[in-house]
Amino acid sequence: MLLVEPRQLTCHRLPIRTMPNGGWLAIEATGISGADVQIWKGDRNDVLYPLVLGHQVVGRVAVADESLPFEVGTRVVVEPDLRCGVCRRCQNGIGGCRQRVPVNSYGRLPSTEPPGLWGGLAEYLYLDPSSVLHPVSDDISAELATFVHPLAAGYTWAVELPALAEGQTVMVLGPGPRGLACVIAALAAGASWVGVSGLDSDYDRLAVAQKLGAHLIIDATTEDVPAAVADHLGTRPDIVVDVTSDDPEAMFTALDLVRSGGTVVLASMKGNRPVQFFSDLLVTKQLTLRGALGATSAGYRWASAQIASDPSMDQLVSHQFPLTESNRALQAAAGMLGHDELLSVAVTF
Ligand SMILES: [Zn+2]
Repeated sequence: MLLVEPRQLTCHRLPIRTMPNGGWLAIEATGISGADVQIWKGDRNDVLYPLVLGHQVVGRVAVADESLPFEVGTRVVVEPDLRCGVCRRCQNGIGGCRQRVPVNSYGRLPSTEPPGLWGGLAEYLYLDPSSVLHPVSDDISAELATFVHPLAAGYTWAVELPALAEGQTVMVLGPGPRGLACVIAALAAGASWVGVSGLDSDYDRLAVAQKLGAHLIIDATTEDVPAAVADHLGTRPDIVVDVTSDDPEAMFTALDLVRSGGTVVLASMKGNRPVQFFSDLLVTKQLTLRGALGATSAGYRWASAQIASDPSMDQLVSHQFPLTESNRALQAAAGMLGHDELLSVAVTF
């Protein structure tokens, strides 16, 4: 399914070209994320059309050379980020490699970049020699395996980057798939208290957060988030993770909410707009503010093992569509088909 231009998904047949190295993945399922929705709508300036959308891929290795040490048939999740290892970003160990333009990443590269199949809404994905694969259990469904992607981000954002220690308290702003993943990861890492806030349209996601073990859920449409946290926790949380969708206010809430000396992880884009904030707050509260883009390999290693051992995650992929209905899958992920029971969305093959 080629995204020719924003909101124009059409079915094409691209040849599987012979490449000098790497391999091919037979895709089993691809999760649809908020970033995919933004690209589909044309709200991102870091992509080039036409492209094959989808960066939350699960599949089986169909062809692999010595650069990819996996046997044919191995089920894997594929990290979206490709890393050349020599550009400045790769050398500094951060995401967003610029070896290919606009970003060296699955689901972002245009189909004009050979061999064209760089996204999950297709039957096959080219496995670049620099792609990072993580084996995942054959005993879970392919759609559930797509949740490794948000789960890896949850671990990276709620545990790894803020160096969550056992007994610490975590507030998650935004109950989307990555917000729910932050709850799962923080609790698994020994957080003593986890709260989650969302909007009234997030009712079902907040209910799931509570089932997953969140100690407090807050409807930010009607409740004051800092007051609700103070009432329930009796103090300020050690860590606040902003996983909202295009909500500049959430950053102010996070900085206000966190305890002095605490950490705010900012994992949400603000619609490519400047946001003014009061920097003295960072100084007087002696805060650590971390920007987070995607999941680390450590996050992927943790998530691909965890997904098969935690039955509470079975409920998290609420909507499935065949490849030919990718357009409806994107509409569903965008909330355009309603918010009832919407958790996360996958296209399955
Ligand atoms: Zn690079």
